Amino acid sequence: MAQLLFKDVNKVYPNGYHAVHDFNMEIKDGEFICLVGDSGCGKSTTLRMIAGLEDITAGEFYIDGVLANQMSSRDRGIAMVFQSYALYPHLTVYENLAFGLMLEGIDADVIEEKVQATAKILGLTDYLERFPRNLSGGQCQRVAVGRALIRKVKIFLMDEPLSNLDAKQRVTMRSEIRQIHRSVGATTIYVTHDQTEAMTMSDRIVVMKSGGYVQQIGTPYELYFYPKNLFVAGFIGEPPMNFIRGKVEGGRLNAYGLDLDLAPVVRNIADIEGKEAVFAFRPEAVKLECGEDSYKITSKVELTELLGDTTNVYAVVGEGDKKVNVILKVNPHNAPEMGSEFSFYIPRTASYVFDAETEEIVENDIERR
Ligand code: ADP
Repeated sequence: MAQLLFKDVNKVYPNGYHAVHDFNMEIKDGEFICLVGDSGCGKSTTLRMIAGLEDITAGEFYIDGVLANQMSSRDRGIAMVFQSYALYPHLTVYENLAFGLMLEGIDADVIEEKVQATAKILGLTDYLERFPRNLSGGQCQRVAVGRALIRKVKIFLMDEPLSNLDAKQRVTMRSEIRQIHRSVGATTIYVTHDQTEAMTMSDRIVVMKSGGYVQQIGTPYELYFYPKNLFVAGFIGEPPMNFIRGKVEGGRLNAYGLDLDLAPVVRNIADIEGKEAVFAFRPEAVKLECGEDSYKITSKVELTELLGDTTNVYAVVGEGDKKVNVILKVNPHNAPEMGSEFSFYIPRTASYVFDAETEEIVENDIERR
C-alpha cells in the first residue's frame, strides 16, 4: 500500500499544450480515488504521470515520502488496467494470468498458487482453461484486473476500465472492483468520465475541468451536497442541477417571473447585491407541498417521463424569450399532466446560490438535508 503526494504538479506536452495545472493532493494509504471530468480534461495524463509513463513538467510527486518524479515505472510498485483489456487471444485465462510472472522467472508452483488465489477472488476459477474469445466482456475485464492483481503492487491505476462493457455488466463490475479493493487494500486511482461510477465507487473524487484544472476534491457526499462552484454542481448528479440566473436587487432575484428572497440562504447578501447570481436546486429536491422555509416556483410542463420509481418532469419557468428549462423529479403518483401549469417548492436547505461571474458558491451556513 502506498501514500501519494502531489505538490503543484503540472504537465506541458512537447507541443506546448498545458494539460494539467497545479495538481495538489495527498492520497492516503489504501484510498480509492476517482479522477472524473469530461473527455480531454487531463485525467489520463495525471494517471500516466503517476505511472511514470509521462514526465512531470513541474512540481513534485512523492510515493511513500520518496520523491518519485524521476523514478522508473518499474520501481513504483504499480499495476495498470486499461479500457481495452488487451488479453492475449491465443492464451487461456490461466496463461493470461500467469504470463507476467513467467516472464519474471517465478517458479511454476508459486505461479500456480497465485493464479488460483487470484482466480478465486475474481470468480474465474471455472474459466481458467477458456480462451478470451469464449468469455463475456465482463469476464475479459476481470481477467485484465486479475493480471494486475496477481502482481502484489502498492498502487492500482485504472483508466476507464468499464467503458467497453454494457450497462448491466458495468454495474456488476463496479461493485466487484470495490470488493476487490476492499480485500486487497492497494491504493487505487481510477479514471472515468462517468459521474455515477465516481460517486458509487470512490472514497474521494477529484473533479477536473477541461484545461486540466482541479475543481474540487471531496467525498461523494461532500461533492453532492456541498459543491464549491457551478461546474461541480452541474457535473455531479443526474439529471443535473437546475440553474436560474438573474440580477440581485434588494436581496431578491428577479428573473423569469420569479421574485426570490435570497437573504435567508446566503451569509452576507451584500456580497451579491447588484450582481448576477444563479439560484440552483437539484431535480430531486422538489416538493409538492409548501414547507415552512421554501421557495415556490411555478412552471409549465412540457414533457414527463415515467421511470418507474420516479417521474422526470421537463418544464419551463417564465415565458416567451424569457424562459428557462428545468428538470424535476417527482413521485409518479403525483406527476403533473403534460401542458399543465405546475407549482412546486424548493426547501431553503436544498437551495444554492452562486456568483454568476466567479461561478463560486456564495458563502452560506446551510446544513443540507
Ligand atoms: P482525459 O483523460 O481527461 O480524456 P487526457 O489526459 O488524455 O484527457 O488529455 C488531456 C489533454 O491533453 C487533451 O486535450 C489531449 O488532447 C492533450 N494531449 C494528450 N496527450 C498529448 C500529447 N502526447 N501531446 C499533446 N497533447 C496531448
